[in-house]
Amino acid sequence: MNNNDFKQRDLSALWHPCTQMKDHEWLPLVPIKKGDGVWLEDFEGNRYLDAISSWWVNLFGHCNPRINNAVKNQLDTLEHVLLAGFSHEPAVQLAEKLVSVTPDGLDKVFYADNGSSAIEVALKMSFHYWQNTGHKNKTKFITLSNSYHGETLGALAVGDVTLYKDTYAPLLMQPITVPSPDCYHRESGESCAEHAIRMFEEMKSALEQHAHETCAVIVEPLVQCAGSMRMYDPVYLSLLRKTCDEYNVHLIADEIAVGFGRTGTLFACEQSGITPDFMCLSKGLTGGYLPLSAVMTTSKIYDAFYDEYQNLTAFLHSHSYTGNPLGCSAALATLDIFKQDNVIEKNKSLIQKLSQATEQFNDHLYVAEVRQTGMIAAIEMVKDKTTREPYPWQERRGLKVYEHGLKNGVLLRPLGNVIYFMPPYVITEEQIDLMVKVAMEGVNIATS
Ligand SMILES: *Cc1c(COP(=O)(O)O)cnc(C)c1O
Repeated sequence: MNNNDFKQRDLSALWHPCTQMKDHEWLPLVPIKKGDGVWLEDFEGNRYLDAISSWWVNLFGHCNPRINNAVKNQLDTLEHVLLAGFSHEPAVQLAEKLVSVTPDGLDKVFYADNGSSAIEVALKMSFHYWQNTGHKNKTKFITLSNSYHGETLGALAVGDVTLYKDTYAPLLMQPITVPSPDCYHRESGESCAEHAIRMFEEMKSALEQHAHETCAVIVEPLVQCAGSMRMYDPVYLSLLRKTCDEYNVHLIADEIAVGFGRTGTLFACEQSGITPDFMCLSKGLTGGYLPLSAVMTTSKIYDAFYDEYQNLTAFLHSHSYTGNPLGCSAALATLDIFKQDNVIEKNKSLIQKLSQATEQFNDHLYVAEVRQTGMIAAIEMVKDKTTREPYPWQERRGLKVYEHGLKNGVLLRPLGNVIYFMPPYVITEEQIDLMVKVAMEGVNIATS
């Protein structure tokens, strides 16, 4: 079968995610036959370097032998069993490990099966905690502008990416939205830390005003990934933790994208030395293998649900594939690799390499900013470098970079006018050079 035959079959039966299907009249669909490390290969033997970890999920390459083995072994032992009333070794082992590697105080693990449902769980749990403890007025959530927490209605409601959200506005609960500490908007001469401290005043007044009716503040720690990889200083989270405590409001850390080493530390919250009340994990949790998510929380919150059944305080939420054994075994193998290969330490040289390789974009006439947090780097293409006026979104310039990447063996998938790199940790220095070189050519084409 060649690429074109495959494409015909696909388009007659499939409706793809996050896609205007009409685009595929001219934009080639990329059929992938197999994967190996950082490489994806199509039906005609063309290879693509996966510079975005297949939507930020893959950590240790495609078809990683160690994770493959773990899943194969589990497959011959137990493929799935319900997790209500029943239990299994991978679910318990993974919960124990997650408790030991996440910030102190996150002692309980509630599984779900994708990122958005983890967000739904955290929102419901926070609300329900306040109900159970007699704070009946707490029904709202505070979120940051430009944030993203998933696509299901609750998750969409607490996000702020208008492209995904506006159409569904009549269906969504209304959060209290506070301006993001996004360092791209700092004033000239201001550091990211100074900017974050200044922006925190807005959060502080929102808490002052709304704490009595607010369950939780939800944030993506350090990087707003779907919001064009905008970044902010860790000091913001330290201030937020302290102030949430003062005002008796929960803090939900959505580490679905930034967890598992993306920001340079295993979890982004570590850089602020904080423990959130809820931490949502998915994406890299299984090394990019299987859909699984986890909501970590404290014993204090757990205890508020623990009572006689007749008091109806239990958290009666479930998903069919909650805690799936295959997913848990992939996650266990992933955590083993982190430990055995000393990944966080080893990534430091990759982080430095990524920074050196992307520096050249600073001089580009149509690049306003090159930013990086750990293993995530982003290039902001603009129409005017001085005023930072963006290109009109209708011009779809990022798509030109995407097309150039595909023609030259690199999978880049810009978010609007922002080109970013979020590669698997098995990438080599030479492959970083290749990925950046192709991106630079793409930016030159897109801005000419
Ligand atoms: C991807 C993402 C989600 C949603 O996860 P899904 O598995 O796609 O539902 C939520 N929050 C953040 C920060 C994400 O990047």
